[in-house]
Amino acid sequence: MARKMTNNHAQFQRALKRLPLGVASNFRYWGEDRTIYVKHGKGARITDIDDNVYVDYRLGYGPAILGFADERVDAAAREGMKVGGVFALATERELAVAERIASMVPAAELVRFSNSGTEAVMAGLRLARAFTGKDDYVILEGSYHGLFDAAMWYTPMEKWGEVGDPEVRPYSEGVPVSTRSFAHFVQANDANQLEDVFKRHGSKIACMLIEPIMGNCLGIAAEPEYLRAARALCDRYGVVLLIDEVKTGFRVARGGVQQLYGVHADLCTFAKAVANGYPISVLAGREHIMRKIGKGVAHGGTYTAHSVSLAAAEKTLEILAETDALERVADYGTRLRNGMRAILTARGIAHSFVGHPSMSGLYFAKEPPRNYRAWKSSDYTFYDAMARVLHEEGVLCEPDSREPWFVSAAHDAACLADTLKAFEKAVDATLASGASHKVQA
Ligand code: PLP
Repeated sequence: MARKMTNNHAQFQRALKRLPLGVASNFRYWGEDRTIYVKHGKGARITDIDDNVYVDYRLGYGPAILGFADERVDAAAREGMKVGGVFALATERELAVAERIASMVPAAELVRFSNSGTEAVMAGLRLARAFTGKDDYVILEGSYHGLFDAAMWYTPMEKWGEVGDPEVRPYSEGVPVSTRSFAHFVQANDANQLEDVFKRHGSKIACMLIEPIMGNCLGIAAEPEYLRAARALCDRYGVVLLIDEVKTGFRVARGGVQQLYGVHADLCTFAKAVANGYPISVLAGREHIMRKIGKGVAHGGTYTAHSVSLAAAEKTLEILAETDALERVADYGTRLRNGMRAILTARGIAHSFVGHPSMSGLYFAKEPPRNYRAWKSSDYTFYDAMARVLHEEGVLCEPDSREPWFVSAAHDAACLADTLKAFEKAVDATLASGASHKVQA
């Protein structure tokens, strides 16, 4: 049965008059007929203003690791409210949260807070540049590090054949093209290419920015040997390894992707899961680099370490560190994969799962992609068509197949049953509609 969208549509038309695209962030605009306005969220479910209820696998792009409106975290946030907000002065809780992070992530010897992932990565890149005295940086194709100018470049498909440094383009107007020469792009899982870039430009490169599980590209995972090679090459060429754990941090393991791979960053950034959705982010790293802050490197901000976010972070991290929440998240993710696999296999649909069970990418080919080019060259029309049906059936995944399915500790057996029922329907409806798909040999 089709969802009722009357109120959503009416709100969209009203909002359009005052808000560009009718929303507060471009990514929330899903078109005139599909943009959703949330009434509230609780646990793993969201209710929209037409009272449609969805099992949610977006979790606000990851933050709600314990589920929406977690009572323990919200109670802590209320205590944080009593502290009084921001003072342009420090509070004691900053140290408590920094100590907790340092105990979970060995590379986080020193810690600073910001408000968003973008801010933290931006600060990390600046610090790396200051520490090395160099300006250039390396980014992996298909990665996302936030909405600041230096991170808003991509290599267009038609340039992929070029050897060396293919021309990069900004993916937004307004990014100064004169800064383009600082960015060097490499493909994931190709250490030779990385070494080649370091050989040619190492004397100019301050930083390698990497999401070892690409939370913005299906969860495409670095192969362990690649990440180890990247670590060694950064050491050899005096490049700061900035591991961006904005999505993976405190999600794929208590110590994030660094724990999973046993590879330590020089600098690392966290945001999404830190405070279960309250705005706070973290730049952390090795002491000798982090000590540059305040000794030549500016860092700060009016809302930094707000008492509400800080209290929420303290409680969220305590729960993640001291309970089995992350094991339950991963277990649900595995069961979700198994259920989907059974449905797809029964219909002969070639597929694979990418990334970590707590943030799974669903890819419609037998072999999972090793880099962005593989995803980009693949046929994702089946996913696109299926996602639309899932929304109608009460399962909220991102319409763009690059976004993994995020799991929270609040996803339970009822969520799984509802999801798999809807998934089966969506797959069948997509097949019936004739959307292209590759059938297993
Ligand atoms: N880095 C990564 C890996 C991200 O996934 C994101 C956001 O999705 C960011 C940085 C930017 O974070 P924010 O949206 O909080 O600015």
